[in-house]
Amino acid sequence: MSYLDNIRKVTPYVPGEQPKVEGELIKLNTNEFPYPPSPKVVEAIESLEVETLRLYPNTTAAPLAKAIADRYGFDEDEVFVGVGSDDVLANCFLTFFSSDKPVLFPDITYSFYDVWTDIYRIPYETMPLDDDFKIKKEDYYRRNGGIVIANPNAPTGIAAPLDVIEDIVSHNPDSVVVIDEAYVDFGGESALPLVKKYKNLVVVQTFSKSRAFAGMRIGFAIANKELISCMNNVKFAINSYTMNSAAIAYGVAAVNDNEYFIETVGKVVATRERVKKTLEELGFVSLNSATNFLFVTHKDKPAKDIFEYLKTKNIYVRYFNKPRINNYLRITIGTDDQMDKMISVLKEYL
Ligand SMILES: *Cc1c(COP(=O)(O)O)cnc(C)c1O
Repeated sequence: MSYLDNIRKVTPYVPGEQPKVEGELIKLNTNEFPYPPSPKVVEAIESLEVETLRLYPNTTAAPLAKAIADRYGFDEDEVFVGVGSDDVLANCFLTFFSSDKPVLFPDITYSFYDVWTDIYRIPYETMPLDDDFKIKKEDYYRRNGGIVIANPNAPTGIAAPLDVIEDIVSHNPDSVVVIDEAYVDFGGESALPLVKKYKNLVVVQTFSKSRAFAGMRIGFAIANKELISCMNNVKFAINSYTMNSAAIAYGVAAVNDNEYFIETVGKVVATRERVKKTLEELGFVSLNSATNFLFVTHKDKPAKDIFEYLKTKNIYVRYFNKPRINNYLRITIGTDDQMDKMISVLKEYL
């Protein structure tokens, strides 16, 4: 026996590197937004009353929940706000996946899901995507204790059509279906309208990718108010004050500037389509992306070698040494200038 025997041990999720390098770094490895947050956020930061930091924040981040609810046409009590969508998703796993039946998710998806099932001791089964990395909806007709699907999926970038999502939700009235829409703003079809129709559906989104707020840590879930209330109860059982007052205020400013959001997301999408074409001319095959990244493989050169070479040039992309995807690279869409630099380095290499 040892004092280590009584400890909870878990294999943690490994995020993309935040490298420290000499000189210019082109960081295309964690799907951050290439443009700064809205100028309205700058105003909100400048007008923050420091005196208010003396007080505890609002426990449900109510002003931000209200702003998100207004933006998407819901009531405030249909919105749960958390410290990034990782926090929101962890809460979903703990709250909704509490049976002996396995939770289902695809074999290739966000690699945090099996970490949460592990730490919360939730049984799970992974459902293989087809050869084109698409979801087979029939896989989700079996007995389960809940379902989680990233749509668009990561790291493939592929979006499932809304009728596939609806089919899965409607086949599972007795379990909660969580749709992780971290990338939906870049071209996916959101399941939010279905929340009005299905009581078992939870849609999770984040400010980290399309609202340039990865560092501010804001994510949210939208579902019927009964489910949201269950999420809040679980949160209040662990930590009532997850969202700090500053993040709440800046989040309101960010969500209210829809014009800036549409303009900058549009720029990322335009860059993505341009880069996709150029990469295809260089011998890459790129999956159709509905996200702010491209998932590519090269017809001659191993992905791992390209990854290592780019790294020597201070260009960081993401490589997953996992079955089925170990010859692919996930490249975040940066500014046009960053992408042009990456392309010229790739041209040299190839
Ligand atoms: C980035 C990402 C998240 C979480 O991001 P947060 O910064 O915690 O909001 C969740 N799901 C997927 C699929 C992601 O790619």
